Amino acid sequence: MEHTEPHSMPPGRLFGGMDVGGSKIETCLFDGRFRALERRRVQTTCANYEELLDCIVGEAHWLDACAGGAVDLGIGLPGLVDHATGRAVTSNLPATGRPLREDLLARLGRSVAMANDCKCFALSEANGGAGEGCETTLGLILGTGVGGGVTHHGRLVLGHNDLPGELGHLGIPGRLVAQWGLPMLPCGCGRIGCYETLLSGPGLVRLASGHGGADRSPAEIAQLAGIGDPAMAAAMREWLTLLAELIHTAQCTIDMECVVLGGGLSRIPDVAQMLADTYGGRRIAGRETRFAVARFGDASGTRGAALLLKS
Ligand SMILES: [Zn+2]
Repeated sequence: MEHTEPHSMPPGRLFGGMDVGGSKIETCLFDGRFRALERRRVQTTCANYEELLDCIVGEAHWLDACAGGAVDLGIGLPGLVDHATGRAVTSNLPATGRPLREDLLARLGRSVAMANDCKCFALSEANGGAGEGCETTLGLILGTGVGGGVTHHGRLVLGHNDLPGELGHLGIPGRLVAQWGLPMLPCGCGRIGCYETLLSGPGLVRLASGHGGADRSPAEIAQLAGIGDPAMAAAMREWLTLLAELIHTAQCTIDMECVVLGGGLSRIPDVAQMLADTYGGRRIAGRETRFAVARFGDASGTRGAALLLKS
C-alpha cells in the first residue's frame, strides 16, 4: 500500500491566504485549485502596530513551513489601503496611517496582495462559490457591519478607491424612515442614518427593539417571526424591505446577475428566498436577479485573499 506523508504537498503552485481580524488571524494554504490543504486560526491581542506585524509575519512563516518554501501570500483585512498615501485605514486593527504593505515587504522579503475582507468574500464566492458563472455579482456581508464587493467575470471591480460594494454607508430612504418612524442612528463612519445601522446584526436587534423585542438575538428574532410572532414578523419585514431597497440601489448602479449573502445574518433560514420575494416587486424589467447564500461561509476570507494572487 502506498504511504502518504501527512504533510506532503501536491505538485504545482501553492497559494497562501490570510484573514486578519480584530481578534483572530486565520491562515490557510491552498493548492492550485484553491482547495484548502492546511488551515489554522490564532487568537490575537495585538495592542499595537509592531505586535500586529509580528503576528502576520509569524503566520506567514507558518505557511512557508507547511509549503516547504516561501509561498505567495494574499491578505484580507477589515479596512483598506489608501491609494493616495499607501497607508492603511482600518477601525479594527492598530494599523491606521501605517504603510502596512511596505512594512510586510521589508519583513517578509516579498510583496503581498492585500484587500478589504468584504472584497475577499466576494472574490471567493464568484470563483467556485455561489456566484460562480455569473457575469456580475454582488457579494454582501451582513454581520456586525454591512459591506461587500463587486465582481465582473470573476474579477474584483475595484474602481478608483476600492469602494464598489461598500453599500452599508448609503443612507436609508426618507420614505421608509417616515413610514415606519425608523431611528436615525450615528454610524461608525461618522455619518447618521446609514443602512448599516439597521441592516447589520445589531441593526436587526434595534428594529426588533422598536417592536417590543428588546435583547433578542437575530436568530431568536428570525425564529419567532417564522412561527408567526406578529411583532418579530414586523421587525423582519422592515429588515427585509430595507435590504431589498439597498439591493435595488445596487441593481440600478451595477445591474448584477447575482447577490451572494454572507455574514452571520445569512444563516437566517430561507433568507435568500425571503429577500428574493421582497425584492421582486422592485424589479424594473428583464432577467431576474438570483439570490444565494455563500458557499464557503467564514472560509471565504482566507480563500478570497489567496485568490487575489490568481492571475
Ligand atoms: Zn456609515
